[in-house]
Amino acid sequence: MSSIVEVKGKLYDELYREIKWVDNSIMTCFSRCPRKCFYQYRCGLVTPSPRVPMLYGECFHSGTEGGIEGNLVKAMALFAENWDEGLGDDQRCLATMNKIMSHFIQFHAQDNCLITFETPQIEDMPRVAGISKYEIPFVLDLGLPWVAVGRIDALARHKISGGLWPVEFKTASRMDGRLIGGQAINPQALLYSIAGSIYLGEIEGVFFEFVGTARIKRDIQIQPIYISDELRDLHLRNMQDICQRMVVCQANKEWPADTTACNSYPQHGIPGYVCEYQNLCLYGNWEQFANAYKVEYWSPFPLEDLVSTGGPV
Ligand code: SF4
Repeated sequence: MSSIVEVKGKLYDELYREIKWVDNSIMTCFSRCPRKCFYQYRCGLVTPSPRVPMLYGECFHSGTEGGIEGNLVKAMALFAENWDEGLGDDQRCLATMNKIMSHFIQFHAQDNCLITFETPQIEDMPRVAGISKYEIPFVLDLGLPWVAVGRIDALARHKISGGLWPVEFKTASRMDGRLIGGQAINPQALLYSIAGSIYLGEIEGVFFEFVGTARIKRDIQIQPIYISDELRDLHLRNMQDICQRMVVCQANKEWPADTTACNSYPQHGIPGYVCEYQNLCLYGNWEQFANAYKVEYWSPFPLEDLVSTGGPV
């Protein structure tokens, strides 16, 4: 695969951040298109207008601390901390979220709900300020060139098997079979399962809890994703392969543009949208149009804190 544009322009030194850790989002993005990973995660370029569905989902995640405790007032206060009602519409707004959170609380209070949340009691877990006490942040040496990091949304006990399972919340405006039925192999679940097995011992799998965000219909579906040791090994090798390619890209300052990943047609529908960096690749000089983006370096939680407090980074 060849690069369609040079990476080493004058903005490179200003924006580029060396890789110190990897997470599922970065590795998945790199697999899709190394150049996209370069723009988004190494140079911190992001589209200036907020992605409202993503923000709404992030704020829902913040509110789940109250939801898990059955405390609607706390859930809504946490949701509102970062939500901007001015960006919302009929579907994504405080009123709808109030109904979603109420349903979340009622759903988990039912006897026939498959899971019961537990507060993680994990000695080796990094202590991270500003995240929910039900989350499990991890910074782990998995034998990759960099530590693998992530933030598991919650921990729950499977009421039938009695096992402890990591839980990942997923908000979705459409709860269809393509979303819910196709998660048997999912890189995020696989990484969380690896982290979970290090912290908790043998685990059966990971729960994905899908929470519908439609305006009228309330829907929550819990999907148990069973993960075998073989599948974990397979994914570990996949992550090693991805990281080795990242090592080469970083060393050579060469991040190939995968032109099969720019829109959904050549990818048979995935991703379902046009790549937000198309303007940077279209005209051969990415720096010329980089100022159309804002610069914001993403991390799942403040990793600098861990460095300063002697954490495992
Ligand atoms: S437009 Fe295409 S080649 Fe450019 S970053 Fe996006 S996916 Fe990669």
